[in-house]
Amino acid sequence: MAQFALILNAGSSSLKFFICKRPPGHVWELESRGQIDGIGTNPHLKAKDATDKVLIDTDLASDVKDGAKAINALGDWIRSLYGGSAVAGVGHRVVHGGPNYPAPVVITPKVMDDLRALVPLAPLHQPYNLAALEAVAQRIPGIPQVACFDTSFHRGQSAVAELVPLPAEIRNAGVQRYGFHGLSYEYIASVLPEVAPSIAGGRVVVAHLGSGASLCAMLGGKSIDSTLGFTALDGLCMGTRPGSLDPGVVLYLFQQLGLSAKEVEALLYKKSGLLGISGISNDMRDLLPSAAPAARLAVDYFVYQCAKQIGALAAALGGIDALVFTAGIGENSPEIRRRICQASAWLGIQLDTAANESRQTLISMPDSPVSAWVIPTNEELMIARHTGRLLGLSGRS
Ligand code: ADP
Repeated sequence: MAQFALILNAGSSSLKFFICKRPPGHVWELESRGQIDGIGTNPHLKAKDATDKVLIDTDLASDVKDGAKAINALGDWIRSLYGGSAVAGVGHRVVHGGPNYPAPVVITPKVMDDLRALVPLAPLHQPYNLAALEAVAQRIPGIPQVACFDTSFHRGQSAVAELVPLPAEIRNAGVQRYGFHGLSYEYIASVLPEVAPSIAGGRVVVAHLGSGASLCAMLGGKSIDSTLGFTALDGLCMGTRPGSLDPGVVLYLFQQLGLSAKEVEALLYKKSGLLGISGISNDMRDLLPSAAPAARLAVDYFVYQCAKQIGALAAALGGIDALVFTAGIGENSPEIRRRICQASAWLGIQLDTAANESRQTLISMPDSPVSAWVIPTNEELMIARHTGRLLGLSGRS
């Protein structure tokens, strides 16, 4: 019998889900995917199958006011589609595993307690991830669940790479560089030996450029550094987050402008980055065609920071063999890839403009000293693989 795993990525107002199937003797494949968005305002469920055929596209009852109610609504729909006992396990994206979870883990009461203790390190994400774990356990008591962390792939970095240079009593409270987007980087590392064997063992900078954006320096498929640090605010300019920022600016916001902690939090997570610079949009698709000077400045800054920080990670790696683009912008915008590669030409990247425009996997010239690639990420498949492995769903049957 085919096995099913449900993959959940729970946010503050949305619940993304993926239903993966593993027919006997086969590998995991996507069965359907979708999202409940507008949780708490106008809840709406939409799902498509693997061929992009719409399976459902409907408003939900207005009492779907929180993540638990959204899980119940999703559970009802899954039950109507696949029957009562189809789901063998549930895998969750959990943003923070802290210093002690360097790998995905099967949920136990002790693990839940540990993960709750990390809420202060990721207050905008962790509570929703944990609420989803709790809601599933309540709906289907005893169902095995797995937490897959955005931080895990980066564990094992050097003490220097993880260091936040503050006094020990502060560092001892968990203040260190964690890195995020780890499931995306882990997926890329897992496919490099097949997709790009010539670089899989080498010095690779992966650029995950989506609405959140970061770079990872990989040596032989392992993370040695990344641009996101203690929180998901550091590093590159993002859709609504500023990336690297002089901490003196934050002091100024508090001391001179009199902003409250909540106001500063909203400014840094929701109103800065591409949106803050342009005043127009957080979406690269709106900014690229715009002639507005502020939109152009936002795009220029995005590219400038990417190229500057690629240089920094190349230094951390002691040189660079390849640059890999992934995620929404990295996979879909030839213009951004072209501009970043041109700004990185000094490293030895020679772009093949035709290959870049036609979205080939290899987008650098055959004799380019440093190669450039476009490799679509698949964080959900990574979660499905971990979930299947940890729950013993992956043995051939
Ligand atoms: P996340 O998972 O972090 O929400 P994604 O990796 O799905 O982000 O990327 C979403 C972003 O990708 C959008 O905000 C948009 O800016 C960008 N994007 C998607 N398609 C294109 C495109 N064709 N050109 C430029 N940017 C794009």
